[in-house]
Amino acid sequence: MEFNKCSQCGSFFISAGKLCPNCTTKDTTKIQKLDNYIENYSIPDTIEELSLNTGIPTKDLTRYMTENQKYSNLF
Ligand SMILES: [Zn+2]
Repeated sequence: MEFNKCSQCGSFFISAGKLCPNCTTKDTTKIQKLDNYIENYSIPDTIEELSLNTGIPTKDLTRYMTENQKYSNLF
């Protein structure tokens, strides 16, 4: 059996991917919030402001921008 180490919380898990099922669920919720915000509002000038408005930590926003092309040119 192969274990993966979650790049978010550091716990070990068996399923594929970089994040454990727990963090994947949290990430999905945050990405939904982000998508919802982008659809309904204009993007603020700074990532800090976007973080405040969405409740998503800047480090997560930065990660989404690196990992997902959809968000790569938000700022
Ligand atoms: Zn995790």
